[in-house]
Amino acid sequence: MIVYICEMNKKELDNLTAWHEDQSHSNPEDRRFTLSDLEPLLKNLGPFFDVSVLGQSFESRSIYKVMVGSGGKKVLIWTQMHGNESTGTKAVLDFFKWIENPGSQTNLRDKLIGSCTLCVIPMLNPDGAERYTRLDSRDIDLNRDVLERKAPESSILQELLKNFDPDYCFNMHDQRTIFSVGFPPQTATLSFLAPSEDEVRSVTPGRMRTMEVIAAMYQSLKGALSGRIGRYTDEFYPAATGDNFQKMGYSTILIESGHFPGDYQRKQTRKFTFLALVSGLRHIAYDSQVDYKTYFEIPDNEKRYLDRIVKNVRIGERRGDLGVYFKERLVGDQVEFVPTLDCFDDLSGFGADDIVSGDHLTFASREDAENWLAIEFI
Ligand SMILES: [Zn+2]
Repeated sequence: MIVYICEMNKKELDNLTAWHEDQSHSNPEDRRFTLSDLEPLLKNLGPFFDVSVLGQSFESRSIYKVMVGSGGKKVLIWTQMHGNESTGTKAVLDFFKWIENPGSQTNLRDKLIGSCTLCVIPMLNPDGAERYTRLDSRDIDLNRDVLERKAPESSILQELLKNFDPDYCFNMHDQRTIFSVGFPPQTATLSFLAPSEDEVRSVTPGRMRTMEVIAAMYQSLKGALSGRIGRYTDEFYPAATGDNFQKMGYSTILIESGHFPGDYQRKQTRKFTFLALVSGLRHIAYDSQVDYKTYFEIPDNEKRYLDRIVKNVRIGERRGDLGVYFKERLVGDQVEFVPTLDCFDDLSGFGADDIVSGDHLTFASREDAENWLAIEFI
C-alpha cells in the first residue's frame, strides 16, 4: 500500500503549534532585530549546530552560517536580506530551538535532520537590520543585486550557493499589511512564490519542485490560517535573487511573512512562518506526494488591506473613506507605528484591522484629516 503523506496531519500541526505557543514567552518581541540580538542566541546553540562566520558586511558586521543535520538533501535558508524584515530570522531561531527540544515531535525532528543538511544564514543584511531599513548601508537592495554584486553580502550568498550546491533554497522576507487575499479581503499572513526563470514564466522541472514545497506548506496551513495565504506575482525580475537562483537550477522558495489581525509585533505570523518552514522541510525530508498544480490554487496576493478605515468622512464638499496605514518609525531602538493617511476614496472593496464610522467627521482639507489621524489614534 502506498501511503501519501503530502501534508502535516492535524495532530502534528497541533503539537507544533502548542510547542511554539509554550515557548513564546521567551521570544524577543520588537520588530527591530539586530546582530547584537542575534549573536547571544547563536552562541547558546548546542551540539546539534555548527556555527561559523561566513564573512563581513560592508560595515564590518559578521554574517553567520549555521549548519545542522546530516542528510543527503541540502537546503540553504537565508533571512533578513532586507534588514527590517525580521520575522523569518525569528522563525528560524524558533526552529533551532525546536531542533534542540522538539517536545513530542522527536520523530519528525530526527527525520528532518537525518534526511536534510541545512545551511542557514540567519541575517544576511546586519547593516540594514541595525538601521531598521530594507536596504543596506549604501541603499543597495540585496534582492536586486544578484548580477552586479555591488554589496559584499551578495557575493557571500553566491559563494555559499556555489560551494554548498543546495537542492532547495528558502528566501525569507516580510511583507506589509496592505497585501490581501480573497474577497472580502483578508490580510495575507503568509505569501509564497515559486520565482520564474524567464519572461514567459515557464514551468520547468526545477520550478515544479519549488511549487511542490509551496503546495505542501499551503495544504498544511490553509485551515489554521483560515485562508490567509497568498501567491505572489511570478512576473520575471531579471535582477532578483530568487529568479536568478531558480534559473541556475536551484529550487528557490520565497516566503513572505505578513500581517495577522491585531498582531503588530508579528508574534502570530512568526508562529505560522515557523510552521511553514517545518512543513516545507517535512515535505522535502519525506519526498511526500503533492501535486505541483495545487500551487495555482493559492489565491493571488492583492493590495486591498489597510490598518484602519474611517468610513464616510467629509473633506470639503466630498464624502469618502479614509484609508490609514501604520507607518513604521524607529524611535531610539524601538519601532513605533504612526497612523498615516494612505488614500481618501470609496474603500468598500477593502478590508482593515479596524473599521470605524466617520459619519460625524468633517474636515476642511486633507491636511486637516491627516493631523486629526495623528492625534486621534495615538
Ligand atoms: Zn524583503
